[in-house]
Amino acid sequence: MKKALVTGGAGFLGSHLCARLLDDGYEVTALDNLFTGTKENIYPLFENHRFSFVLHDVTQPYWGQFDEIYNLACPASPVHYQHNPVETLKSSVLGMMNMLDLALKTKAKLLHTSTSEIYGDPLVHPQVETYWGNVNSIGVRSCYDEGKRCAETLAADYRREYNVDVRMVRIFNTYGPNMHPKDGRVISNFIMQALANEDITLFGDGMQTRSFQYCTDLVRAMRRYMSLDRARIDAFFAGKKLGTPVINTGNPGEYTIRQLAEEVLRLIPESKSRLVFAPLPADDPKRRKPDITLAKELLGWEPEVPLAEGLARTIEYFKERSK
Ligand code: NAD
Ligand code: UDP
Repeated sequence: MKKALVTGGAGFLGSHLCARLLDDGYEVTALDNLFTGTKENIYPLFENHRFSFVLHDVTQPYWGQFDEIYNLACPASPVHYQHNPVETLKSSVLGMMNMLDLALKTKAKLLHTSTSEIYGDPLVHPQVETYWGNVNSIGVRSCYDEGKRCAETLAADYRREYNVDVRMVRIFNTYGPNMHPKDGRVISNFIMQALANEDITLFGDGMQTRSFQYCTDLVRAMRRYMSLDRARIDAFFAGKKLGTPVINTGNPGEYTIRQLAEEVLRLIPESKSRLVFAPLPADDPKRRKPDITLAKELLGWEPEVPLAEGLARTIEYFKERSK
């Protein structure tokens, strides 16, 4: 039986990935320090005897024999990663180093979750993997952006220098059930505000854009990527300028934040919420949309869940949770 380690396994995405790995017959260890994740996300998984949880901080070395390591441990919401920026940087950088060392010593495959934030406030649109980004190194978002950029560098160098089998996904805004209601990201905020008949807070003029991917689409891409042979991945990237195996995963549908708010209100017609404007946070990217050509070619993958359907499922989840 294959063994998988999922760091950040009690978080939003980690919990979906653990559930999928159990469905695929794996023995799964979720490692988490519960900074933004919760045990509620993984309670149902304990019914499976192949699931276990380790309370551990990824900034400290961890030892275990696994076939596959999925590195997700890092706060992802701007509100949370800016709450404790030094810990965020450490989680990205030291966490990556510890997981790369573990992969090196045990010959495990490692899939790292990078982010569209490594493109910063992008000047190239849509974002292709060969774009190097437009990132402020000393701003309030830098702990996350630069931490994730440094993690990518470490992964690329462990691969070049020590031949570690690393794959990376640059994830674009992803949403769905198991997001924390107070997560602070736009979809959970808008849904919680609409359900509570509170004002919906549009930051800035609401004309900035994002592309929203439903969680199961992402997990499907991650599993497919991990399942590929190293030789197949090496051959694919040998013909590319990138060299290192990194791909964007996201849904290319692009929406203004105002359109998103209107869509949430359309799906919750009983809501009495109004749209209000609040100051735009510093360094908030103006436009974001993934080019997913590489993921399509390499994985034969593309997102399947349209925004309205994913939002409806997420709204149901938050309604159930607040009962
Ligand atoms: P999340 O905050 O729900 O999950 C992160 C998990 O990591 C939490 O359970 C948290 O407790 C845990 N964690 C944080 N620091 C840790 C540490 N030092 N040691 C151990 N565990 C730690 O966020 P998410 O959306 O599930 O994000 C998961 C990963 O995906 C993150 O690495 C994030 O950067 C990446 N990502 C997510 C998105 C998205 O839109 N959801 C986009 C890009 C990248
Ligand atoms: N946003 C907003 N209202 C909110 C939360 C976020 O208008 O209550 C905006 C935010 O300024 C950004 C976009 O929504 O432009 C996405 O924010 P989120 O924090 O979800 O993720 P980001 O892509 O910025 O990391």
